[in-house]
Amino acid sequence: MTTITVAELNDLWRWCDDIGQFATDRPINDTKNHEGSCIHRTPFCNITCYNNKLYKLYPNMHDRDDRCETIWQKLPTDVEWYVNNFKPFFARKRKQTKRRRFMTRGEAIKDMVDVYRIKAMALAEPDVIYWLPTRAWQSKHLKALVELELMPLKNIALNGSTDPTTTSEEYAMLQRDGWNTMFYGDDDGYTDVKMFPCPKTFKGIKGHCSICKGGCMSQVTIGRRSDTHLIEH
Ligand code: SF4
Repeated sequence: MTTITVAELNDLWRWCDDIGQFATDRPINDTKNHEGSCIHRTPFCNITCYNNKLYKLYPNMHDRDDRCETIWQKLPTDVEWYVNNFKPFFARKRKQTKRRRFMTRGEAIKDMVDVYRIKAMALAEPDVIYWLPTRAWQSKHLKALVELELMPLKNIALNGSTDPTTTSEEYAMLQRDGWNTMFYGDDDGYTDVKMFPCPKTFKGIKGHCSICKGGCMSQVTIGRRSDTHLIEH
């Protein structure tokens, strides 16, 4: 039986003012007990990921990511567990819990079991939107599994993370296969792809992701895929 304490859940789910929702994290690189999660990283990630700076500024971040990964690895894949544990945990929160975000740093879908953890969470609370940015589309097998298991769920705001190293063929493939995309890395946007300008980063509206209906959320709010452009603030 999976036992995860309330203290551990509080460690795993931290409140982010910037996006107005609770969010999780995983280690980007290897920590003392775990392998890093960003196995689908691109050369652009290696050069520009701002978390690398934060790790230097806040050395405790490594320890928290290590703890988060221990908790994440314990998460089961049965829906009932989330009904009995996540639901009451979030019901006690005063801040909004109807939108939650996977991994402000690190990768949510490192391997197959992650897909089934996320699926179980989403099925346990169908009225909660789970925002899921991922680079797992770069693995053929994981992409197919995500399309089979997660894409049909109406409460998963699935987004393929892209950057200037994404090729136009890859972009066409993601669009054809129904993926929302989140592009970051060039404030001029991506050549030949018309993008939705993210209100939070273009207009600096802090917390807007908790009510945003477009961009990353468009599939779950208006039933339409879109390509979102995030700029540096
Ligand atoms: S498009 Fe909307 S949900 Fe996505 S980052 Fe911007 S404000 Fe947040």
